Amino acid sequence: MYYELIVQTEKREQFINITAGLNGLLGDSGTEEGTCTVFVSHTTTGVTVNEDADPAVMDDLLRFLKRMVPLQGGYSHREGNSDAHIKASLIGSSLHLIVRKGILDLGTWQGIFLGEFDGPRTRTVKLWID
Ligand code: ZN
Repeated sequence: MYYELIVQTEKREQFINITAGLNGLLGDSGTEEGTCTVFVSHTTTGVTVNEDADPAVMDDLLRFLKRMVPLQGGYSHREGNSDAHIKASLIGSSLHLIVRKGILDLGTWQGIFLGEFDGPRTRTVKLWID
C-alpha cells in the first residue's frame, strides 16, 4: 500500500517531526503488523530517526551539520545549494521500519524527522507499507 505525506517546510534548514503524520497514514491503512519504507524523493531533503523528547537534540544535529558543511564551501555545483545536497546524503533518503499494533515500533525516545536543507518548500514523504 502506497501513501504520501505532504510536508510544508518553513525555513531553509530545519528538522520536522513527521512521526504522527506517518502513524496517521498507518492508521488509515489499517495495518496492524508489518514493515514500511519511508522515502523522500528530493535531493536536498533527508529522513532520520532520533530523539523525540528533547528538541535540543535535533537543534544540535542541525548546528553540527551546518558547521560540518558550510553554505559557502568552494563547491562546483552552480545552483548554489551544494551544502544542502551534501547534508541530504549524509542524513540519507530512506528508512525501513517495523509496524506493530498499528503504529511505528519505535523506542520510547525515538521519532522520525524530515531534514529540510534547502527550503522552504513543499516536500513529499513516500510511504510503502508491506
Ligand atoms: Zn542543487
